[in-house]
Amino acid sequence: MQDIERLKDEILRDYPRLTREDSFSFECHPGVPCFNDCCGDVNIFLTPYDIIRLKNHLGISSSKFLSEHTIAPFDKNLTYPVVLLKMNEDARKSCPFVKPEGCSVYEDRPWSCRMYPLGMASPKEGEDTSEEEFFFLMKEEVCKGFAERKGQTVTEWLTAQKIQDYNEIGTHFKEIVLHPFFRKGNHLTPEKIEMFFMVCYNIDAYRDFVFKSSFLDRFDVDAEIVEGIKGDDVELLKFGYGWLRFSMFGEQTMTIKSGVLEARERELAAKRTDVS
Ligand code: SF4
Ligand code: SF4
Repeated sequence: MQDIERLKDEILRDYPRLTREDSFSFECHPGVPCFNDCCGDVNIFLTPYDIIRLKNHLGISSSKFLSEHTIAPFDKNLTYPVVLLKMNEDARKSCPFVKPEGCSVYEDRPWSCRMYPLGMASPKEGEDTSEEEFFFLMKEEVCKGFAERKGQTVTEWLTAQKIQDYNEIGTHFKEIVLHPFFRKGNHLTPEKIEMFFMVCYNIDAYRDFVFKSSFLDRFDVDAEIVEGIKGDDVELLKFGYGWLRFSMFGEQTMTIKSGVLEARERELAAKRTDVS
């Protein structure tokens, strides 16, 4: 993970910055000599929305997707858990979804696969400076797409790659991972790491948690919201972000039902009495 930090510093320091109006020449199609060469031996960090799109594309649960297709590296320098797409164990370390004819999950491919060859960065990550966000080109040696003559602006590229939903939902995720709580050097307890992981990466487990535990007895959630999150992963994810903000950062994004706190206090008092 230190390599990633180093790369971030290098990008901020050395890479030419592109605005949405800037143009670049690039095209990727089955006729390029390097077709599929980039779909292997690569670190693809998956966002919560990537996982929802991929597991639904494959028609499997988020738990099954996580266990079959991802790795979650442990690093004490990480402020929050991350998930990477697991490459095959063949000589090329190829992506599990690459086929001779191209990406087999193309319509639901992850954000970073859509973005390539563009990267997106913010000079002051964590300080809500969306206006300072910039783009840059990642020129992989293997990639011959830059020799193609097709030109486009950054905006045109983003539109063609249908990145809008990814960025929109990604904004909510960014608000959490770039929260002042983390910038001040705070760390999540193991219990909160589990909560974070469940909401962000294991949405089907979070659905079970909301609907099969005492969650809805403890929190006052509008009936319309309850209906909305039942069968919609994205709505459930956004709802989960609110719960994380409440639980991890103490924000007033959820309302506890009246009587719940009092009952909890009575329970604790009874336990104290039993001990003494
Ligand atoms: S998900 Fe698709 S585009 Fe991304 S690395 Fe795998 S095969 Fe390539
Ligand atoms: S290496 Fe570049 S041009 Fe070649 S397939 Fe990958 S993205 Fe396309």
